[in-house]
Amino acid sequence: MMSAIPLQRDRWAFFNSLLEPNGSGGYSFILRMKPLEYKKSHSAIVRAKKMVNTHMLTYAPTQACRACGSSQGELLFSVSGCPVVRCAQCRHVFLDIAHNDGSIEEMYRQYGSTYETVYFEGINAGVEKNIDRFLARCRKYCAAAGPKPQLLDIGCGSGALLNRAQLAGFVCQGIEISAPLADQARQQTGCPVHTCFLADANLPEGSFDVITMYDVIEHLQSPRTDIAKARALLRPGGVLFLLTPNENALPRMIAKACYRLTAHAVSSPLEVLYYAHHLSYFTRASLSRLLLDAGFDIMGIHMQPYDLSRLRLSLLQRAALYMLLPVLMCCPPVQGKIALWARKR
Ligand SMILES: [Zn+2]
Repeated sequence: MMSAIPLQRDRWAFFNSLLEPNGSGGYSFILRMKPLEYKKSHSAIVRAKKMVNTHMLTYAPTQACRACGSSQGELLFSVSGCPVVRCAQCRHVFLDIAHNDGSIEEMYRQYGSTYETVYFEGINAGVEKNIDRFLARCRKYCAAAGPKPQLLDIGCGSGALLNRAQLAGFVCQGIEISAPLADQARQQTGCPVHTCFLADANLPEGSFDVITMYDVIEHLQSPRTDIAKARALLRPGGVLFLLTPNENALPRMIAKACYRLTAHAVSSPLEVLYYAHHLSYFTRASLSRLLLDAGFDIMGIHMQPYDLSRLRLSLLQRAALYMLLPVLMCCPPVQGKIALWARKR
């Protein structure tokens, strides 16, 4: 007869087999646990889960919460050896990993080519329509700024938003740390594009009517610092616009439920939805909290579905996602993206 947990020492061996050094003196849970010798034993899995949960409750994040600054967090799971943590205070979800300017630059060295070829198709008409809609709202919110509002696009990439903003009458500048993307943006728009981190940008304070961060804030090591810098660059009453993936999106909820319900055996959906470039996973609440703490008034939040037209998917994957769309459209809180406008207090 097979014993559930054969011996005390084997139980600890099993527990330790779920951990691996994370390179910063701590340990990460190994996401895929396939200990065949225990698979047939339900009670072994139950007991192991209890031990894992105990460890999760006492997990001490190495990074402060990127939304509220709290140091208390709960370990949710790991992706590619990197812990994914939920803040005990504001429930913000983030990768518990420390980056510096050098490691961020390294991560984005090839970003322009890999991002577009691996994950997404290029900018298309649907994306431009989305950008136009957001710029129209920005324009409305800064009506007092006159006919030529000054706009700064942080993380401008190859200049898609700058291009549309110029057509909409904005006077534009961009910031982009990827040199090849910044070159493309300059060539395509003729706008000044600063190739540096926001913190190092030599721009006069109080000089912009609108600052946009379109799919950018989730990439930042220190959103609180960068939002404070953006606020300093805005004129009094200036508007900050943010677009970011929604942590409460339905696909993420399904992936996390699969992981929990299978005693951590099914992790591949998490590996698709959580990845190294996205250091933060905001909800409406955690994003609002960050902005309110930084001295902004929230003017509007709009939930929108993922832009499926740009995803590189097989025919089957695309069909499955389009079948999910009606569900997503009926329930805005679980949609894929959060668009938020906030005014400098
Ligand atoms: Zn927090």
